Amino acid sequence: MIDIQKIRADFPILNEKVNGKPLVYFDNAATSQKPQVVIDSIVDYYTKINANIHRGVHTLSQVATDAYEQARLTVQKHFNAKKSFEVILTAGTTHSINIVATGFTDLLQEGDEIIVSALEHHSNIVPWQMLCERTGAILKVIPFNEAGELQMDVYDSLLSDKTKLVFTNHISNALGTINPVQEIIDKAHAVGAAVLIDGAQACPHIKPDVQAMDVDFYVASAHKLCGPTGVGVLYGKEEWLNKIPPYQGGGEMIETVTFEKTTYAGLPHKFEAGTPNIAGGIAFGVALDYMNGVGFDNIAAYEDELLKYGTEKLLEIEGIKIYGTSEKKAAVISFNLEGVHPFDVGSILDKLGVAVRTGHHCAQPIMNYFEIPGTVRASFAFYNTKEEIDVFIDAVKKAKMMLS
Ligand SMILES: *Cc1c(COP(=O)(O)O)cnc(C)c1O
Repeated sequence: MIDIQKIRADFPILNEKVNGKPLVYFDNAATSQKPQVVIDSIVDYYTKINANIHRGVHTLSQVATDAYEQARLTVQKHFNAKKSFEVILTAGTTHSINIVATGFTDLLQEGDEIIVSALEHHSNIVPWQMLCERTGAILKVIPFNEAGELQMDVYDSLLSDKTKLVFTNHISNALGTINPVQEIIDKAHAVGAAVLIDGAQACPHIKPDVQAMDVDFYVASAHKLCGPTGVGVLYGKEEWLNKIPPYQGGGEMIETVTFEKTTYAGLPHKFEAGTPNIAGGIAFGVALDYMNGVGFDNIAAYEDELLKYGTEKLLEIEGIKIYGTSEKKAAVISFNLEGVHPFDVGSILDKLGVAVRTGHHCAQPIMNYFEIPGTVRASFAFYNTKEEIDVFIDAVKKAKMMLS
């Protein structure tokens, strides 16, 4: 069970007013808010232990290194990675995907095939297109149906011994669809292909187990998980991380350097060139501890209630169309008011203190499918309430009155 008053008290921003109205923050799919413990950990780091890591003999450097490496262990435990060095701390999902997409350049040949889902975020489309341009590999796309569900029969027909890589998100940020990732992984492995799952949108709602999934790569961003921006994770199976070359050269990722030849450091440092976001990495660990304290089963059950309530109330308004009606769905409602541009709805909601996202949500192919310029997207987190949904519904009704 969620003690909602206690949880809300952990998030100072929820007391803010926006445009003179109490903030109703329904843009959680873009980034989550931060609890006080995460904010404190960043302040504490810079107040008490700031030093560069992995290189100093002095005390603070060692304290900072220990704290940063402790965060890696927290991430490892959260995702259930077998080895701590299979956890690469990155700048976020986009960075993690680019490490893998660039790393596959020498592993692919002309005519090899990469399968992606049509529900992808741009950050999970463009790096693969660039990889195809470099290698001559061919990109194949799993389409989705009217409900926003992947067409798994088409996936079956796309798989062959030419398939080398499969990429999909775990949950769609634009529609909320929870994709059948286990089936996708198992079938890809049956033809010998590697799989990367983009968990950026799934991790705020569910706790993934990378060993149980047997996934090759899994990526996420801290900032959607109550953590800071500019930090994320690339989980990779040891054998794959050994196969792909480093992404960036620099300090921290080397073993020895001469002008004739440089040898690379072992995992995870091989992929962690330069001084990382140390405070951010430590705060990522704090954020995961916080969310695990609330409990992901509690979070999922509570958010499901919010999703059902919000969907019901919204559908009572005439002229509402909801995009993404998959049976397995996270707490994201993408919708439009008939005949009204989503931007105009979003602007009126903002004046009433309600923060939603409008536009294509970095997923233009989805908008093209529905033949719309974009949607209004309300996305809920475990610190939102039904009372806030009521405020949001009233605001949508006002917008409708003003605009149609
Ligand atoms: C947010 C998001 C990304 C991008 O994450 P960044 O933190 O901006 O790198 C990628 N994929 C999905 C599904 C997302 O929701």
